[in-house]
Amino acid sequence: MKIICIGRNYVEHAIELNNPLPKKPIFFLKPESAVVLKNQPFYYPEFSKDIHYETEIVLKICKVGKHIQPEFAHTYFDEIGIGFDLTARDLQNECKAKGLPWEMAKAFDQSAPLGLFKPKSAYKNMNDIAFSLKVNKEIKQQGNTRDLIFSFDHLISYVSQFITLKIGDLIFTGTPEGVGPVHIGDHLEAYIEDEKCLDLKVK
Ligand code: ZN
Repeated sequence: MKIICIGRNYVEHAIELNNPLPKKPIFFLKPESAVVLKNQPFYYPEFSKDIHYETEIVLKICKVGKHIQPEFAHTYFDEIGIGFDLTARDLQNECKAKGLPWEMAKAFDQSAPLGLFKPKSAYKNMNDIAFSLKVNKEIKQQGNTRDLIFSFDHLISYVSQFITLKIGDLIFTGTPEGVGPVHIGDHLEAYIEDEKCLDLKVK
């Protein structure tokens, strides 16, 4: 299983990090060892002083595919969930400045806490799914998939030109604006529509 993460897929988030808007999707990978399941805590790592949350809708791939045409892309994922693309922003900024890969800032252990997945059929319209993040009961991020720069179908089609998608692979579809630091003792709660789907304590 692999995790494919899309960067800069919401306009306001690209602006808040001073990044240009992409003309094509940007993606990077996290390994399976990044996953945190079943509301287990996140242990703040020693190598960073600036871990950020990024709250993202996650797609679960349900069949093998490569060179997938956009009109068939919707048949390649059957479940939707929410996850945090935890990012060591200090290390990422160092990597960016030196033109180095981002893995140490993005792919570390526990950098992908995942919540509950539900069948796609639970949602009326893939292009109108509201989601949000509360940190210590205060709303910090609010997004809606209608604001995606590249739709789910576009992402699946694009990524599959480079990487074969396999059953169980996950695609993190990008974060809306409002990213910020987590601290030891924080309580993160992520919602799809009105339902809490992910609960994470930082230790
Ligand atoms: Zn992200």
